[in-house]
Amino acid sequence: MVNGFYASYKVQRNQLFAQTLDTNQAYAQKLAAATDNFIQSAHEQLTFAAAILGNSFADKALLQREAERLHLQTKSFNSVAVTNAQGEVLATSPNTLGLVGSLLTAGGAPEALQAKAPLVSAPYLSVSGNYLVLISAPIFSPSGEYLGYIGGSIYLKKRSILNDLLGEHYHKDGSYIYVVDKNRQFLYHPDPERVGQHTDGNIATLSLQDNTSGSVHSKNSLGIDMLAGFAPIKTTGWRIVAQRPVTATLNSLDDLMKNVIYRTLPLALFTFVCIWFLASFISRPLRQLADTAARIDTPDARTNLSKIKSWYFEVHELRQAMLKGLGIVNNQISQLKQDAATDPLTGALNRRSLQLLLEQLEQKNIPFSVLAVDIDHFKKVNDTFGHAAGDTALVELTQIMHQVSREQDIVARTGGEEFLLILPNTPLNIAQIIAERIRSRVEHLHTEPIGSINVSIGIASQSCHNQPTEDVLAQADQALYQAKNQGRNRCVVFVVSESTV
Ligand code: GH3
Ligand code: MG
Ligand code: MG
Repeated sequence: MVNGFYASYKVQRNQLFAQTLDTNQAYAQKLAAATDNFIQSAHEQLTFAAAILGNSFADKALLQREAERLHLQTKSFNSVAVTNAQGEVLATSPNTLGLVGSLLTAGGAPEALQAKAPLVSAPYLSVSGNYLVLISAPIFSPSGEYLGYIGGSIYLKKRSILNDLLGEHYHKDGSYIYVVDKNRQFLYHPDPERVGQHTDGNIATLSLQDNTSGSVHSKNSLGIDMLAGFAPIKTTGWRIVAQRPVTATLNSLDDLMKNVIYRTLPLALFTFVCIWFLASFISRPLRQLADTAARIDTPDARTNLSKIKSWYFEVHELRQAMLKGLGIVNNQISQLKQDAATDPLTGALNRRSLQLLLEQLEQKNIPFSVLAVDIDHFKKVNDTFGHAAGDTALVELTQIMHQVSREQDIVARTGGEEFLLILPNTPLNIAQIIAERIRSRVEHLHTEPIGSINVSIGIASQSCHNQPTEDVLAQADQALYQAKNQGRNRCVVFVVSESTV
């Protein structure tokens, strides 16, 4: 949107500049044409009067009448004077000038005498103290002898036809026009102070470069950025410059742009809010996925993932991938846990996980009985039938222990051919029955190539709630030791009195 505003501002600005330059040029041309017309008609009037005077130059009254007629009738000139060939004033209008009889030596007078042709003089200060240009026509006798000239003055600093022609075009927004002569001297300027001064200003200089009209974007002598059009006044070689400050030109554009922004803003804001909502709607499931990924190690990660609404394809795929990855990792972890907790040969719990389960029982204050199981003469089995056969016997014993026990009972392998069966919430007499069941099943088990094996089992139970777990295990061990001593293939219950003896 900003880019759009900027581009349209630029385009409109350029168009406005081009338009203003064209307008000013056309305006300067129009004023130049009007000024040209005026100068031409002034010359025609003077030439007409000069022709009349040439026939009766000695008639002073006629000279005076013609001067007055030109001055009063045409209203083109501020004053009219007739001189002889030496520059002596023969008649003036208005009479108040008091110049009759005096010799004119300033500026335009000698110029006219020398040229002996229709002339518009350079600006000069007259004997009567007026800053002016002189428009003159030569007077010749019927025989062609140069008799003098008749000239009309146009005051530059006081009200004159030139001021009337140009002055009304002054605008309040800083636009103005001025006229310079060939020497870059101001003939007309809205500021009377500057009339007569020379200018080094860019625009004046540029406008004088050739004899055509044109336009230019440049700074004026005060450094103000201007859009100027200029045109030559062909009869005099003067230049009319019409110019408008860039700031004045851009004022309307600034207003226009403000208006455009003011009108576009509500819809733009509405669009912005819509985009905001849509963007957050699209990104919400992604953000939820990212949050869940950051807390993937928490137990409810899977539930959280399943809850995320995957309303578009990419999120759906991401979520599925994450769920799949999480499943794989969880499986691997539980496999690792299993591997870490059990004995690889028999699948019975190892010593470490047994320890953990016993601690839990202790914490929960659950009473239990223990069977310490050991294969009799197992070394011999290995020696006779080989290690692999021994392994098979170990696996089968484990299976029997599992078969006779409940789900909450703990089967653990604590040594080479030594096992513990922990029976929570089981009194000693029941433990005894279970032990006997194991011993009997093992005894009746027939495995190739070993045949049958026997086990000895030590049985102990928590005599009171506070009895430490290690003590109970040690008692079971002692009972096992007794079983071995008593001839093996039997179950022995640890009895307190016996152990203390
Ligand atoms: P007792 O009746 O006094 O218990 O005699 P025993 O030979 O069973 O006891 P002993 O402690 O002297 O020997 C245990 C044997 O168990 C020694 C070893 O060869 C065997 N053993 C230990 N671990 C394994 C195993 O993982 N696989 C096999 N096949 N044998 C094992
Ligand atoms: Mg042993
Ligand atoms: Mg043994």
